[in-house]
Amino acid sequence: MSGAYNELLDATIQYLESLKSRGVRQVAVTPETLRSLAQPVRVSLTGFQPERRPRMAAQPSPAPAVVPVAPTPAPVVHPPRVPSFTPKPEPAVEFSRPMPPVPAAEPPPELDPQAKAAALAALRVRALACVKCANLAASRKNVVFGVGNPDAQLMFVGEAPGADEDVQGEPFVGRAGELLTKIIQATGLRRSDVFIANILKCRPDMPGQSSGNRKPTPDEMATCIPYLHEQIDLIRPKVLVALGATAVEGLLGKTIGITRLRGTWKTYRGIPLMPTYHPAYLLRNQSMAEKRKVWEDMLAVMEKLGLPISEKQRNYFLK
Ligand code: URA
Repeated sequence: MSGAYNELLDATIQYLESLKSRGVRQVAVTPETLRSLAQPVRVSLTGFQPERRPRMAAQPSPAPAVVPVAPTPAPVVHPPRVPSFTPKPEPAVEFSRPMPPVPAAEPPPELDPQAKAAALAALRVRALACVKCANLAASRKNVVFGVGNPDAQLMFVGEAPGADEDVQGEPFVGRAGELLTKIIQATGLRRSDVFIANILKCRPDMPGQSSGNRKPTPDEMATCIPYLHEQIDLIRPKVLVALGATAVEGLLGKTIGITRLRGTWKTYRGIPLMPTYHPAYLLRNQSMAEKRKVWEDMLAVMEKLGLPISEKQRNYFLK
């Protein structure tokens, strides 16, 4: 069995232990998941996917300890009933590890297209095998590395994958993603022209909850951000767009409110960076005025990139 599998197993055990230390006594596991756990796995490029191979005679029979489905259950399976994990208000965030500084001002020299593609592929493999955040490695379905044109002039950075992104392994494919795609298309670009990534490559886990999202913790951001720094170094976009406060915080280390920051050019290691609202915010707040603000930010981005702007585009969302 691969080292990566063992790492994932360790991460799962750590995760379960962390739940236990928080008072959780039961975890819901579907029969399908239990069956998958008993299968040999192989690392695939889209995440740790159990590989269903016919079991060979020499292989050990499925670990019985994993599947206590017998009518006389082991005590662990049916302990005294405790309410399933009810999220308490998040404890005050502790900066046990400060955000690592943005790497030295000078990014490494630009690579030729082949070397760049190889370096991005290697970075992707590393990210996909990452188990540094034990809780996230254990709960994720896919690592969401990022998608788009490796030579993109424009790169969007969001917060973290949600449920849809976790399932599909691609950033911004849910409702907020559909809106982001529309925003990109309104500039005259296609989604495939730009690069899209997140501060966090794994979906923030929601123990005991089947839906919902939470903001990444500072520790998770600090652990994951080096992948994004490397991604940006390789892609070398001409302009970055930070979608929402978490993206700004991850890239610039600033925790100033996005309302104050948006629409004002910042710089990330020499690259102009435009902070704007996260598309999820626009889904919650459908006012024309807020949409226009994001569109104004995009017009500024288009100007910076030297993209043509029509009268019609200039007037979007103006009464
Ligand atoms: N929100 C994000 O910040 N990123 C995604 O990929 C999806 C939703």
